[in-house]
Amino acid sequence: MIITVAQSAGFCFGVKRAIKIALETIQNAGSVEMLGDIVHNEQVVQEIEAAGIRNVQFLAAGENKTLLIRSHGAPESVYREAQQLGYRIVDATCPMVKEIHTIVRDRFSQGYRIIIIGDKQHDEVQGILGQIACDALVIEHAETVSLEAIQAIERAAVVVQSTQALANVLAILAVLEQHIPEVVFSNTICRATRERQAEMESLPLENDVVLVIGSKTSANTKRLYELAHAVNKNSHLIQTRDDILPEWFTDASKVAVTAGASTPDQTIRGVIEALRSLSGC
Ligand code: SF4
Repeated sequence: MIITVAQSAGFCFGVKRAIKIALETIQNAGSVEMLGDIVHNEQVVQEIEAAGIRNVQFLAAGENKTLLIRSHGAPESVYREAQQLGYRIVDATCPMVKEIHTIVRDRFSQGYRIIIIGDKQHDEVQGILGQIACDALVIEHAETVSLEAIQAIERAAVVVQSTQALANVLAILAVLEQHIPEVVFSNTICRATRERQAEMESLPLENDVVLVIGSKTSANTKRLYELAHAVNKNSHLIQTRDDILPEWFTDASKVAVTAGASTPDQTIRGVIEALRSLSGC
C-alpha cells in the first residue's frame, strides 16, 4: 500500500506558537489559567493540563495569576475583565486571527455593518464578535442567509473565520453581493487552511482511501473531512490509530493521510505506523 502524507498535515503555525507560549509561560509563572481548551485536540489539552495550566470557566480574583489567551483569540471584554481582576495577561492569539480583529475594528469605525462568515458558536467567531460594541451578523451557510436581515444593510464589511472552506464562503458572498449595495470582502481564510484545503482537492482523487486525523471537536479537521468525503466516499475522520478499521483497505493500494491544524505529529506518526503494519511493510 502506498501511503501519501499531506505536506500540510499537523500543527499549523498558530497552534505551534500557542503551545510554545503556554509551556514557556507555565515555566515562568506560578498560576496560569485559560478560558477553555488551548486547541481542539484532546491529546494537546492533556499535555497542557499535565504541565500545570488550568482550564477555567470563569475568571476570579487574579492576583499572582496569569491568564493565557488561546490561539482562537478572545473578545475585548475578557481582556478588560482580566485586567480589572488583577491578572497578568499573556496573549497567544494567532497573528492571523489578530489581523481579522483589526479589520473588523477598522471597518466598524468606518461605518460598515460587520458580517462574519463562520460557525456561530466557535471560539474564534466569538472573539471576532467581541471586537466591536455592536452586534455583527454571523452567517454559516448560503441556505441560511436571512434576506430580511441583509436587505436592510447598505454597507457591509465581510470577514471569514480563518478555517472556513472557500466554496461555502463564495456561495454566501454571492448572496450578499446580490442584496447589499456595497460589500467590502476580506478573505481571511488563513494560509495554513488554504494549503490544507488545496491538498484535499487532489489527494482524494489520487488515492483509494483518505484518512483525516484530528478531534471531532476541531472545526478545521471536520472541514477537511467534508472536502475529502465529497470527492472520495472512502474517506474517514479518525482521532487516533485505534479508530482505523482494516475493512476500509480491502482492494486499496493508495492511501492519503492528512490531519487538522491541532493534531500532534505523534498522533500522525501512530497512524502511519498502523497503516504500515496493516499493509505488511
Ligand atoms: S488555523 Fe490559521 S488562524 Fe487558526 S491558529 Fe492555525 S494559522 Fe492561525
